[in-house]
Amino acid sequence: MTKTAFISHPDTLLHVMDGHHPESPARISAIKEQLARTKTLEHLQIHEAPLATDEQLTRVHSPAYVKRIREIAPPAGIVRLDPDTAMGPMTLSAALHAAGATVLATDLVTAGKAQNAFCCIRPPGHHAGVANAAGFCIFNNVAVGVAHAIAKHGIERVAIIDFDVHHGDGTENIFRDNPHVMLCSTFQHPFYPYRGADTRTERMVNMPLPAMTDGKGFRATVENEFAPALEKFKPQMVFVSAGFDAHALDPLAELRLVREDYIWITDFIKDIAQKHAQGRIVSSLEGGYDLPSLADSANAHVRTLAGL
Ligand SMILES: [Zn+2]
Repeated sequence: MTKTAFISHPDTLLHVMDGHHPESPARISAIKEQLARTKTLEHLQIHEAPLATDEQLTRVHSPAYVKRIREIAPPAGIVRLDPDTAMGPMTLSAALHAAGATVLATDLVTAGKAQNAFCCIRPPGHHAGVANAAGFCIFNNVAVGVAHAIAKHGIERVAIIDFDVHHGDGTENIFRDNPHVMLCSTFQHPFYPYRGADTRTERMVNMPLPAMTDGKGFRATVENEFAPALEKFKPQMVFVSAGFDAHALDPLAELRLVREDYIWITDFIKDIAQKHAQGRIVSSLEGGYDLPSLADSANAHVRTLAGL
């Protein structure tokens, strides 16, 4: 029996920004259908995400920002937070459940009830900073889980691996000065959000990649840059900002990863977690906008987490 938790929530399908927005509910449906079709789902523990509380959110976001998001949520229509990010009537609930998913995942994994977990949620989170929404993100789901692991479970060193094609600038904004957290982020550069290329530190292991970088270049970067940093840091728990928009077929970006690269990076993360962190991994969906390759890559990621 595998001990991989799969956490989602029905409201994650009800957050709609506008008719043709690439960050659409169909992304979640595509992943769930692929997991069902390939019988991956039968091997997972299925959980419904709870709502994140203000206490959990304000460990990483300012109280004023959380209050503003709660107040601005529209009863009907759309409210814009930035040019790419909007809230509809169900967005607040989806965002609170998305952040709550990583909290539940953290509780399950630290209690040993699950070895690892995948949060199949939206809106994504890694562009959301201490006091701002950005790039389709409202609350920084992974950051909320990381802060919960530190505050509630006494974890002292957490590593975040972010292989989304965009830099996790919100995550860097939140944790840059936090000695408990290491961020290892690969991203296309120059590219949205146009940050991170020159802000590398010992714990902010930012690795810009030129457009057209393929799996070979990606893997070399992970082995040469992430591996030694992680060996030195010795994370007690590993979080993953699992974006699949570095896939060769993704319409928003120009990296060239394929399914085998997502299996490879997941195995790399499992090895690190096995060595230092009792195998504890919490992974949360970020980007990925070509539905077939998103579904296929996410399925491969989850199957590898579950050892299938
Ligand atoms: Zn992305």
